[in-house]
Amino acid sequence: MTSARLPSVDSLLRTPACQPLQQRYGREALLATLRDLLDELRTPTRNGQLTAQELSEAVLAGRASERLANQQRSRIRRVFNLTGTVLHTNLGRALLPEEAVEAVCLAARYPLNLEFDLATGKRGDRDDLIEGLIRELTGAEAVTVVNNNAAAVLLALNSLGARKEGIISRGELIEIGGAFRIPDIMARAGVKLHEVGTTNRTHPHDYANAISPRSGLLMRVHTSNYSVQGFTASVPTAALAAIAHEHGLPLLEDLGSGSLVDLSCWGLPKEPTVQEALRDGADIVTFSGDKLLGGPQAGLIVGRKELIQRIKKNPLKRALRVDKLTLAALEAVLNLYRDPDRLAERLSSLRLLTRPQAEIRHQAQRLAPQLAAVMDKCWSVTASDALGMIGSGAQPVARLASAALCLRPQQPRRLRGRSLRQLETALRELPIPVLGRIDDDALWLDLRQLDDEAAFTEQLPQLREALG
Ligand SMILES: *Cc1c(COP(=O)(O)O)cnc(C)c1O
Repeated sequence: MTSARLPSVDSLLRTPACQPLQQRYGREALLATLRDLLDELRTPTRNGQLTAQELSEAVLAGRASERLANQQRSRIRRVFNLTGTVLHTNLGRALLPEEAVEAVCLAARYPLNLEFDLATGKRGDRDDLIEGLIRELTGAEAVTVVNNNAAAVLLALNSLGARKEGIISRGELIEIGGAFRIPDIMARAGVKLHEVGTTNRTHPHDYANAISPRSGLLMRVHTSNYSVQGFTASVPTAALAAIAHEHGLPLLEDLGSGSLVDLSCWGLPKEPTVQEALRDGADIVTFSGDKLLGGPQAGLIVGRKELIQRIKKNPLKRALRVDKLTLAALEAVLNLYRDPDRLAERLSSLRLLTRPQAEIRHQAQRLAPQLAAVMDKCWSVTASDALGMIGSGAQPVARLASAALCLRPQQPRRLRGRSLRQLETALRELPIPVLGRIDDDALWLDLRQLDDEAAFTEQLPQLREALG
């Protein structure tokens, strides 16, 4: 019996099956893929482990086609976020409203007046594109926008407090996910950390006693991602601003989420707003664009004109500035805030956060039988009430009353963990990966964010196949 032989790259390249591949992916890519494939098969072929059929030109071309298709596929994939966390940092936080998507496309496709004043024909400043809106919406004198809120805090600290002391409560030395820690950022900004008070209680005199000729600024950080309860005391913005101003120092407030509207109007937990912080006397306020604001990733620095001027002159600003796509999206989102009555309909993140539980329950009841039909008998599928979260560190203790598809394995306890992990993997490997959460021996698909129901149900037959 003659052992099967590996064809040469050249002969493979000439086979009819490879012609459409060359057309589609180009000769270079096809050649590289064929070489890799043949290299991998060399040893098993020599050892006689492969049949002539497995090494036929048609089969090899088929394998090359699969690889090329895989390589071509974008690494950025749309997913279904059914985790129950709406502003999920790992899944891209806020979804942009249609108005912002359109603005991004326009800015991507055409030249635009990014730094060009159309009224005078002279060079402009990119911050001017949104300054009017921000002033109108927040009452701030001026604004500058950078890459994200971490950059905003870094830039503001460095511009206003380098080589001086920054006075901050020990209760506000926070860490945000992804290694953003206030003491580290202060150090990198060249500001000397002067911590006052204790973890649970800090009083006005703690700040006042710390002020000296070495002081550069007072800082207040919204402890967005955890909550201190019990015997606690902190100094409100207004009182802290009074202390700072008595000594001629600026007060910098990092709000994190930075909402521009009172969320309690929609039954959501109240977050401090940017307007309130400014009205209470904060000189500079920093906040994220893609948290509760519902826009693109950005860091907004708003406040007193003279301080914003200093921040804009800092050479670091150039390194941290935003691009045109972000500004386009941000302007479109801010525009929606001019009509607060319709905000919850039009701003995607707010629409999702305020979706009524009754509506989500109906959706769960409608989908549960369809999901049950593709699941094996050893799973129970029910429409169950669930509790979600806002996410992105906003209101960590608050829960959003929601509803979910709850998939519970009916096997003996010791086998359940494995079944749950297999199901989780099968869901993740669907064409549009479905991400849920495992809790209490069950897999939960929180439906608050399931807009595109048709795309979800279309995939169910493939789930059945994957689960075999
Ligand atoms: C989220 C957050 C940050 C970091 O903001 P990014 O936009 O993620 O860079 C900083 N400070 C606070 C208080 C936050 O909540």
